[in-house]
Amino acid sequence: MGNILVVEDEVSIQTVIRTYLENENYLVRCVDNGPEALETARQFEPDLIILDLNLPGMDGMEVAARLRRESDVYILMLTARTEEADRVAGLRLGADDYLTKPFSPRELVARVQAILRRTRRDTAPPGNTLCFGHVCIDPDQHEAWTPDQPIDLTTTEFKVLLELARHANRVLTRDQLIDRVWGLDFYGTDRVVDVYVGQVRRKLEQVTGASLIQTVRGVGYKFVDERQ
Ligand code: CA
Repeated sequence: MGNILVVEDEVSIQTVIRTYLENENYLVRCVDNGPEALETARQFEPDLIILDLNLPGMDGMEVAARLRRESDVYILMLTARTEEADRVAGLRLGADDYLTKPFSPRELVARVQAILRRTRRDTAPPGNTLCFGHVCIDPDQHEAWTPDQPIDLTTTEFKVLLELARHANRVLTRDQLIDRVWGLDFYGTDRVVDVYVGQVRRKLEQVTGASLIQTVRGVGYKFVDERQ
């Protein structure tokens, strides 16, 4: 359930996306250009926008940037481009996930469902403990634990884990982690982020036996919520 706006200029792809999403009972609107996307987003108030980056006229990046200024609607980018730089730029602009063409329609539906499930959790009152399959995290007490034992983390390691977990199943770039964990106190290089994420990943693996933090090559890191 939910409203989904599809912004895609290739009719065949538009049709496939619409068919698969309507089969899952989503209400779908399709447009093929940026200005119409912005207009429809205001009226239709979608829960999620599937946005092709390669559009005639207004580029998908520009559309994403403008959408972000107006709302916090979830954005799933579609890109035919193989350039990592585009994906990173898109994620920086606030896209929540991306798929590279050609993609399987089933994969698209799975991503949409995952994002919309996340929406409901994100709107839970702040200050609540986050619980995943193996791990619980209490942002107020700065504590993390498994069903069996506490996880021993430094202050910075805890912040890294919390930010990744708050965006479970979404990719955070190194820059996003730097902004949210260190802010203006950051000095050094992206390598610092890799080191801290590596430490958190090791500690989680030791107590849970699971790889909960994935490296997304060339982009950043993702905390995997195994319940999804
Ligand atoms: Ca296109």
